[in-house]
Amino acid sequence: MDWSRYQIAPGAKVRLADFDPSDTGKHKSHHEALPKIEEHVARMAKAQYLLYADGAQALLIVLQALDAGGKDGTIRHLFSGMNPQGVTVACFKQPTPLEQSHDFLWRVHAQAPPRGHVTIFNRSHYEDVLVVRVHGLVPRDVWSKRYDEINAFEHLLGRDGDVRILKFYLHISPQEQLARFKQRLDDPARNWKISESDYTERGFWPQYVKAYEETLEATSTKHAPWFVIPSNHKWYRDLVISRIVVDTLEEMKLKLPPTRVDLKEIAAKYHAAEEREKNGGD
Ligand code: AMP
Ligand code: MG
Repeated sequence: MDWSRYQIAPGAKVRLADFDPSDTGKHKSHHEALPKIEEHVARMAKAQYLLYADGAQALLIVLQALDAGGKDGTIRHLFSGMNPQGVTVACFKQPTPLEQSHDFLWRVHAQAPPRGHVTIFNRSHYEDVLVVRVHGLVPRDVWSKRYDEINAFEHLLGRDGDVRILKFYLHISPQEQLARFKQRLDDPARNWKISESDYTERGFWPQYVKAYEETLEATSTKHAPWFVIPSNHKWYRDLVISRIVVDTLEEMKLKLPPTRVDLKEIAAKYHAAEEREKNGGD
């Protein structure tokens, strides 16, 4: 799969209207894609085992979307195969008073993955140039400087923390969002997910599009690229994201660390008697 068309080149102009949220590439159905998704998920799990054992590098995955864009589903579908010991999901909600009393990156930096770990951000520091901008929660003079601050922060994570960063914008259409809200109203298992603010936020769609476009333009870098993922079809979203993640992990040249002990010596010392006993010796 050539996913490069979903990647935003550094400095490129972004028009979300140029991306079809219903795109499924060459793929025709969930049925056809499922074995590939499963294969990617298995390879991701294998690579994560090496990442953890190696303990030298980290991976940060940023998920951003409008409401009902599919962030939770992506996490559930794609990261279930990984060893929970090395994976963390960090959700960023409305800042608490304590968080609010610090700079906007304070709470985010604390959740950055240590070497050997994968961290998934369900929302992120990007809310501080998105919802915050759309609702005028801080003056333009403050949020507009945050693009540079974010780039410097992500650069720091990469350079000093050995963190690879992948950022996914899950792109859905307004019609698909409405259909998913309706599902949440109708399906008792999903009722808990709907709130009135989902509908009121929907009224700000054009403002969010503009804020996303400027964000993607200002903060897609070689080291921490943005991808616009067609997400009306959940299976295609899962297929593309899992492919990008697996390709990235496999490119990281992860390997098991060298053994730090003399295996022969230890085996001789601790297993020789056992072997003799097993062989009927004295
Ligand atoms: P949810 O992800 O549906 O649980 O909603 C979390 C809410 O927190 C969303 O409405 C976000 O826009 C909001 N949120 C997250 N980060 C921030 C932030 N830095 N400032 C204001 N609101 C935020
Ligand atoms: Mg919500």
